[in-house]
Amino acid sequence: MTKSSPEVAALAPEVLRKYETVIGLEVHVQLLTNTKIFCACANRFGDAPNTNVCPVCLGLPGTLPILNKRTVELAMRASLALNCTVHEHSRFARKNYFYPDLPKGYQISQYELPLATNGWLEIDHAGAKKRIGITRLHLEEDAAKNLHEGFSESATKAYIDYNRCGTPLSEIVSEPDMRAPEEAYAYLTTLRQIMLYTGISDCNMEEGSLRCDANVSVRLSGAKEFGTKVEVKNLNSFRYLQKALEYEVERHIAVLESGGRVLQETRLWNQNESCTVSMRSKEKAHDYRYFPEPDLLPVHVSDAWREEVRRSLPELPEAKRARFIAAHGLSPYDAGVLTNTQSLADYFESVVKSGAPAKTAANWIQTELLRRLNDSGKEIEGSPVSPAALAELLKLVESAQITGSIGKKVFATMFESGRSASEIVAAEGLAQINDTSALEQAAREVIEKNPDNVAKFKSGNEGVFKFFVGQVMRATRGQANPQAVNDILRKLLA
Ligand code: ADP
Ligand code: ZN
Ligand code: MG
Repeated sequence: MTKSSPEVAALAPEVLRKYETVIGLEVHVQLLTNTKIFCACANRFGDAPNTNVCPVCLGLPGTLPILNKRTVELAMRASLALNCTVHEHSRFARKNYFYPDLPKGYQISQYELPLATNGWLEIDHAGAKKRIGITRLHLEEDAAKNLHEGFSESATKAYIDYNRCGTPLSEIVSEPDMRAPEEAYAYLTTLRQIMLYTGISDCNMEEGSLRCDANVSVRLSGAKEFGTKVEVKNLNSFRYLQKALEYEVERHIAVLESGGRVLQETRLWNQNESCTVSMRSKEKAHDYRYFPEPDLLPVHVSDAWREEVRRSLPELPEAKRARFIAAHGLSPYDAGVLTNTQSLADYFESVVKSGAPAKTAANWIQTELLRRLNDSGKEIEGSPVSPAALAELLKLVESAQITGSIGKKVFATMFESGRSASEIVAAEGLAQINDTSALEQAAREVIEKNPDNVAKFKSGNEGVFKFFVGQVMRATRGQANPQAVNDILRKLLA
């Protein structure tokens, strides 16, 4: 590998602005099945190397693949969630290449007749919505994993773990519709959210269950033809996707500005040096000698099966956001946060169903709950405060039985102890003090102790009023009804 990038740091903004960026993504997701795509081996990450293998996924002669129906179902779910046309007939093909991670010498994939084509998803970038086309979604098998490090003879040997070989994948190819690295970032996060909502994949980039290759080119703004594209691999985080694309765009512009030509090639992102390096010149499809897989029947999807899968889809993130805004009166921002994951959205809706006002619930979840979950490294599923328990607390605050600030303290205790709000309020005597004679008593004491401030107030210093309110709240350990305290002080100070 050679580093063949010109200096890219020196481009002026007006030079960058002459060009338009074009990006298309190819995303692989591992499907959440129990077993592999063509054999009965477990589809599980993290097991000891080469323990989930059999003659089929090791590609031994004389074995035959048997298609796992569940993989078609999950790929169909993904296709429908991405607004694709699912074809009645699709077919597997052999993609031939020679590499140790592929024991058969070919990968079973889909080529001319993919499962689904022609979909789209909507991204929301900088407040603007935009549709990104999805060219195709097909099924294929994953290859084995090369392990280079961590073995006693790693210096001289390469190791291979065949557990991953035969893991079901969906490849999702986008149209070249993105015009900035941030749009690519938004596309990938939106796609991931849809995959998680629909239970198609756990989309864990670190474990490789979501992998993304980025195709990028630039052209002079207004040009009709696309520029020469480069494919960037080894993008194992969302941040690297964006950084690698930003780097490539500037590299292409620098090449063109210096009178050069962008080479069509595959490049690798080098995270240590924050640059891309050339890996190989781009292979052409005919290098793979694709041909129909003779060992598998074509895939047939009946209308009834497809519609059954469509009906089983959950409400998708975009629709949920719209509903949260319309039905619960949330701001687009709050709706975005609360639909981040399906579990969080469900939690919010259960709190509302248990009788808490929607906006209050939205605020408390986003501040008190999410902050504490985050601090304690817990997920919403493991929240020590159930939706019903939070709703009970919010109703106590709403009906003025406790003050908002006491409510926050009660919430902290609920989170630590798992006890209910009413239990804590009763045990610790935190109920709001509405008894006016008790409050009047407290107010008189504060006034007597602070003659200077009384004089200031009487001479027109309205700001001092807050001081009196604060002192009474303090004297009642925050339990006084703030409105009553206000009224009483106004009366006594008048
Ligand atoms: P290939 O023949 O190299 O596989 P495809 O036309 O199948 O290329 O496209 C592969 C991916 O590259 C798709 O995601 C597509 O949107 C994207 N793509 C195609 N042409 C360009 C281009 N000029 N610039 C950026 N991305 C592109
Ligand atoms: Zn197997
Ligand atoms: Mg292609």
